[in-house]
Amino acid sequence: MSTEKLPARSENFSEWYNQVVLRAELADYAPVRGCMVIRPYGWALWENIQQALDRRFKETGHVNAAFPLFIPMSFLEKEKEHVEGFSPELAVVTVGGGETLEEPLVVRPTSETIIGYMYSKWIRSYRDLPVLINQWGNVVRWEMRTRLFLRTLEFYWQEGHTAHATEEEALEETLRMLNVYTDFAYNEAAVPVIPGRKSETEKFAGAVQSYTIEAMMGDTRALQAGTSHFLGQNFARAFDIQYLDRNNQLQYCWTTSWGLSTRFIGAIIMTHGDDQGLILPPRLAPIQIVIVPIYRSDSEQSQVMAVATQLHKQLSTRFRVKVDDRSEVTPGFKFNDWELRGVPLRIEIGPKDVEKGVLTVARRDIPGKAGKSVLHPDNLEAQFGQLLDDIHHSMLKRATQFRDEHIFDPKDYEELREVVQHGWAFSWWCGSAECEAKVKEDTKATTRCIPLEQPAGEGRCIVCGQRATQKVYFARAY
Ligand SMILES: [Zn+2]
Repeated sequence: MSTEKLPARSENFSEWYNQVVLRAELADYAPVRGCMVIRPYGWALWENIQQALDRRFKETGHVNAAFPLFIPMSFLEKEKEHVEGFSPELAVVTVGGGETLEEPLVVRPTSETIIGYMYSKWIRSYRDLPVLINQWGNVVRWEMRTRLFLRTLEFYWQEGHTAHATEEEALEETLRMLNVYTDFAYNEAAVPVIPGRKSETEKFAGAVQSYTIEAMMGDTRALQAGTSHFLGQNFARAFDIQYLDRNNQLQYCWTTSWGLSTRFIGAIIMTHGDDQGLILPPRLAPIQIVIVPIYRSDSEQSQVMAVATQLHKQLSTRFRVKVDDRSEVTPGFKFNDWELRGVPLRIEIGPKDVEKGVLTVARRDIPGKAGKSVLHPDNLEAQFGQLLDDIHHSMLKRATQFRDEHIFDPKDYEELREVVQHGWAFSWWCGSAECEAKVKEDTKATTRCIPLEQPAGEGRCIVCGQRATQKVYFARAY
């Protein structure tokens, strides 16, 4: 770890972000431009995200499978909007084993096509439905402008793909998974996302309707943090996913897809971090409690280490705990290091604490003395459980407050132009692509989502003044 100070978050958010990712050892740049290496600390965070999501997927009836990385080029061409949307970003393999391939292979940018092809083989009757499969994997999209975690050529994610007998069931599934993502974001990551529908312009290539969870980052820009798509019968028709219904009539299936990626790590960093570095939500943090022993002499060391080791053993039954027993660095260095890495709780054990039989505990989310408390050693597991819960709730509260303070209801177009420079605008919109395009051209802000929760009544479009029945968030986005 470098001892140099991080760039101030309020002054250079972008550089602060890069430095936090690198110095906290979440990720590093790879030799190929736009690719990244996810380091063990970053991967441990991703594993906790995976577990929290996977549990929810299984609880809602889904199973996991693995589909191939390579997709025949002709598959992508079967769905017109899909191929148009993804063509500019495709990585294509034309040579294999030294031979030019008869048909080029696409490295999957997403797997609707190959999974659709397989579903057409597997689904025969209404009895086979619904099919509820998720895959954990990586995909490649040849992005021109890249940022660690936020936009890289290759990224890890999960993609769910489901097939249903009716439109109603598929729509229900689309919203169910949007709710799963929302629940995950609030209750695991303490990120107060806003669930809603994407505009026609912003929806997924090939979808009938796309839903999203949108999060506000610490610089007020928006981040699309997960999406759930209702695909109608578009892919079913392109890939002949058909079933015999109860009356022995051949019908096309209704399909959905939904995904959340390592980009979410970027959302966590940019929602919660501060000038000292990461602040990780306790339920996802790879290390929830770090124990830092403090001693000057050998006898103090053996005294303090005995307590630290015992404490580690006791707390490890319920929490992810680490003892920082490095002897080559000072306790002060360790404090800074674990603050940079965002560990929610730090226990400091010195000879005086051992003597008094107490523990000094510091909260990462409340810097300095205000975040310190002294614990007596009875029922420690319950006390730490409570502390970690408190941290989760106070992080969520703080992020929600920040979000709400930066959402504005501009009175006219002039004011909209101004507020999207330092926040989001929540405004009536007539729904036309022209009005959306004008805002984008004038301000770089795009429509982020039409939230599921809408105010009653109707208003006038903030851009053209026509009648409008829905409100939308406009924001500059990552
Ligand atoms: Zn309008």
